[in-house]
Amino acid sequence: MKKDDCIFCKIANGEIPSACIYENKEFRVILDVGPATRGHVLILTKEHYDNIFEIDAETAGRLFSLASVVARAMKKTLNCDGMNILQNNGTIAGQTVFHFHLHLIPRYEGDQVKVTWPQGEISDDEKTELVNMIKKEI
Ligand code: AMP
Ligand code: ZN
Repeated sequence: MKKDDCIFCKIANGEIPSACIYENKEFRVILDVGPATRGHVLILTKEHYDNIFEIDAETAGRLFSLASVVARAMKKTLNCDGMNILQNNGTIAGQTVFHFHLHLIPRYEGDQVKVTWPQGEISDDEKTELVNMIKKEI
């Protein structure tokens, strides 16, 4: 389904122009309008999914398969030193556009991008509890 008030639905489906690198029937690959670094790319679904909790696993799989192809093309042409691939879900996680998209952020020696967090701790009991909780839903 497309959503009438969603800017990424309009971009993904070509109603609003974008700096488009690639498209197929399911996805559009564009340049981010506010790039973290040179060549910051977004992969958008043409269907509307708010986030990872809505997209089906098969579509997500095909999207990540495309991401691996795009990442290699970016590495070759941009000559970046590394790349972060990330995807924000929910306001608390930094999502600002509530239509599923994957970020491909080329990284260059000396860039000022930070994708880090303070390292926490986990006890053996908590590991067991968490493993048991999550695995029964998979
Ligand atoms: P997120 O914070 O993960 O939801 O990412 C939203 C991203 O979309 C940001 O990096 C924005 O710079 C980018 N963005 C917002 N509007 C547009 C647009 N019209 N065209 C391309 N990128 C956009
Ligand atoms: Zn949308």
